[in-house]
Amino acid sequence: MKAAVFHGPRDVRFEDIDKPQLEPGEVLVRIGACGICGSDLHTYRHGMFLQLGDPLESGRVLGHEFSGEVVEINGDVPGVSVGDRVTTVGMGGNAEFIRISADRAGALVPLDDSISYVEAATTEPLATSLHAANLGDAQDEETHVIIGAGIIGLGILQCIKARSNAKAIVVDLSDKRLAKAEELGADEIINARETNLVEALSGDVLDSENLLSQTSGGIDVVYDCAGMGKNFQGPSVLEQALAIVRQNGKVVVVAVFEQDVTVDFNVVIRKGVQILGSWAWEMDEFLESARLIASGEIDRKPLVSHTFALEDASKAYETQLVAEEAIKVVFTP
Ligand SMILES: [Zn+2]
Repeated sequence: MKAAVFHGPRDVRFEDIDKPQLEPGEVLVRIGACGICGSDLHTYRHGMFLQLGDPLESGRVLGHEFSGEVVEINGDVPGVSVGDRVTTVGMGGNAEFIRISADRAGALVPLDDSISYVEAATTEPLATSLHAANLGDAQDEETHVIIGAGIIGLGILQCIKARSNAKAIVVDLSDKRLAKAEELGADEIINARETNLVEALSGDVLDSENLLSQTSGGIDVVYDCAGMGKNFQGPSVLEQALAIVRQNGKVVVVAVFEQDVTVDFNVVIRKGVQILGSWAWEMDEFLESARLIASGEIDRKPLVSHTFALEDASKAYETQLVAEEAIKVVFTP
């Protein structure tokens, strides 16, 4: 079968590999669409999260954001039939087929006919956004700031807007992504390349030496969806988040860090900030995300910026790497 195989940083190749063989209780899904996740991208760039792929003799098949059609079942799996359109979780979706292990077969989520495979492949990242949004728990009168307008940040925006009247401010370095945030209902957008975020949102003029010595800031909840890239210099998004958050506010950290950040914990203590790490999601959040897409409460179509065939695997990963251009790159094998 066709597959995109990861061999090392910046090295993903289109290859012909063996089609998976099913053990009893397992299900074979023909991939309809599979997105490139931020975590896949960290692997692609630096070899992070190498454990998150199906090992082959040489290389790994990445990809866990997929949807497709059930084409084979070994034995009897309750609630699943050949021909079902589904989305679920698993590793190795950058391929023509994926084997769903017996312990995961119960988590195959049926898809409404009105939802395309491409949209359905964004269920998993929406669940990641929903988990972060649940931690942020937006209330109508609050102001929430989302830093980083990639698929996760934009998904958090969609969750906040679907479930509350909270004001949402989105911050990014890319005008293209910010325009998307506006299209999806952001009340305000800020390009941090042009505007000093801390000055704009705390009202204080800060010198860079003293970024965090202040204790003001009026933002109820800040989401760090940017993290710290390997070569980034200057005050981290996390430090900026701590500067703009209000007394007793929350900072939800959903990004991945490629380098360590230094945080003045006296600021955390003096402001009584809750720092909440947000990793992945619970199964009920995955199901809720599928429901939000099916009901039309959240429209994921505007977030898919590119689709590629597996044959163009390398180009697809390079495209997702260019944040300015891509929001979500999806393989349609
Ligand atoms: Zn993902």
